[in-house]
Amino acid sequence: STSIDTTNSTVVESPYSLDIEPTDVVSFVFSSGTASSRQKPQYFDTGRPSECFSLGQAETYVKQIGQGLQSLGLQPDDKVLVFSRNRLFFPVVLWGILAAGCVFTAASPSASVSELEYQLRDSQAKMLLTSPDSASVALDAAARLGLSRDKIYLFCDVDEDLSKYPPAVLQLRPWTDFWHRKEETSSWSWKRITTLEEATSTTAILNYSSGTTGFPKGVEISHYNVISNSAQLLHKRNLDPTTTQGRARVARLQTSGERWLAPLPMYHAFGQMYYCINAARQQAKVFIMARFDLSQYLLYLDIYRITFMTSVPTIMTMLTKHARPDTYNLHAVEMVTSGSAPLSPELARKFEQMYLRRGVQVKQGWGLTETTCSITGFAPDDVDDGRSIGWLNPNCRAKIVPLPDQDRDRDFAASTPSGLTATPNTGEIWVSGPNVMKGYYRKPRETAEVIVVEDGIRWLRTGDVGYIDKRGCLYIVDRLKELIKVKGLQVAPAELELALVSHPDVAEAAVVGAKINGAEYPRAFVVRRAGSVTVTEQELIDLIKQRFAPHKWLTGGVFFIDAIPRTGSGKVMRRHLQPGTGAGSQAS
Ligand code: AMP
Repeated sequence: STSIDTTNSTVVESPYSLDIEPTDVVSFVFSSGTASSRQKPQYFDTGRPSECFSLGQAETYVKQIGQGLQSLGLQPDDKVLVFSRNRLFFPVVLWGILAAGCVFTAASPSASVSELEYQLRDSQAKMLLTSPDSASVALDAAARLGLSRDKIYLFCDVDEDLSKYPPAVLQLRPWTDFWHRKEETSSWSWKRITTLEEATSTTAILNYSSGTTGFPKGVEISHYNVISNSAQLLHKRNLDPTTTQGRARVARLQTSGERWLAPLPMYHAFGQMYYCINAARQQAKVFIMARFDLSQYLLYLDIYRITFMTSVPTIMTMLTKHARPDTYNLHAVEMVTSGSAPLSPELARKFEQMYLRRGVQVKQGWGLTETTCSITGFAPDDVDDGRSIGWLNPNCRAKIVPLPDQDRDRDFAASTPSGLTATPNTGEIWVSGPNVMKGYYRKPRETAEVIVVEDGIRWLRTGDVGYIDKRGCLYIVDRLKELIKVKGLQVAPAELELALVSHPDVAEAAVVGAKINGAEYPRAFVVRRAGSVTVTEQELIDLIKQRFAPHKWLTGGVFFIDAIPRTGSGKVMRRHLQPGTGAGSQAS
């Protein structure tokens, strides 16, 4: 990758800078607010709002969990895998694992047995915490790996009714079994981090991302990555508690009470960072949703008088299609942030008109799992032109690297919902900053493909294509990498391609993102094995359904073609794979 010519790149620095004190994530979270604000209920279960906890209570739980995990023999840097939907205690389990000195990794609750097996194996997880409704999959995946049952615990509530689950699930011990006695927590503390060296070298979180190519990989996020990204996001909202202005604003928000709804999954960087870290840090109340349901979502926005919405374009599309928006009052909403996938300005404006108070604007942020969560965004008072993804976070830089020849003269208008066209300085965006990951876990070669050090600056190649305007705002026009985003979640084509070629009648397969009604879905192009004509579209659709979580299903269809177009070096020319443009015809 060092052979790329970056001499003609434009480098831009963030207009903001910030001092970020090195510490560990647990200290960062529990030093928030005041002694009295830490006693106020802060996290709520939307379904049963009487179920809640304050940060003060959470600190005791976290000590019980941290001490308990250590007593089980877990060592610093051991990985603990959480396999669960959003639950009230999701943030607590994350903090508790970190308090033990271990690394938190979480899998999608809709993962199949083989997907979970992959992550357990790749992360070398020493322990698995599963919610009861995911436990059957967890048991099967653990059995395939030979992970013994005493390494699996049920992540459930003390009073949860488990009678509906099969006997194998009931035999698992509840995680509260390993919690240390509450009476003995006061004398115990997690290991505090105080130096930059230790904060940057100690891994806190292992989130999974396929990056620019290939299979999902463990993204090593250090303690410093997490606290930097949180500090950057709070700074942008003028909520930095180390400044006078920030403290005043935090105090105001505490009295007026900032309230967030948490529908996004906390196994993914977006939900994780906002709900488990930022909300705790700025003492926002968080109403946790276990699963997304449109009417319930609207109802909760209304009855809990939500002030801040964390959204993805898919949710906004669903909201704009609702037949009776007038039945809900969303006038408490002061801010909406959208990320994870491109947002069309038309959709954003329509959503604002249908639901929001005048003057309240949806603003985009941009980020990658590899940048902890966010790398650009807007401050509350910035005026958004509806197409930009905002300014760089404090202490970050970006540069635009010219695209390879074959990509240079493309018409981007078709590939982005914002209808942006390429400008002369469009290229691949590389970023640098304190929130850029340590690297991919146990994958030095894959890490070296995306992390490039030049003149002492550690750049991350994002695989996103865009440009920077005169103000320093960034725009995304396309994606260079293989990655497909469905409902804001990742789909790695390589995973699906491998599964497709495991079918005896399939010689070759390439999976690309198909744009359908402004959203993106996986679509397969398949070359049948010579002499075979029997394999059908439905058969291959079913094969993927059996092995993968629903967002990875081939909703974009299967197209049979004669050959997969490749470059001289054998790389699939994904742009040439379009139905009806010479790439072949659809079966059935
Ligand atoms: P993930 O690692 O799952 O967060 O996915 C990161 C990728 O999502 C980015 O590299 C982009 O391709 C895409 N993405 C995230 N936010 C945006 C946005 N605001 N506009 C366009 N693409 C985005």
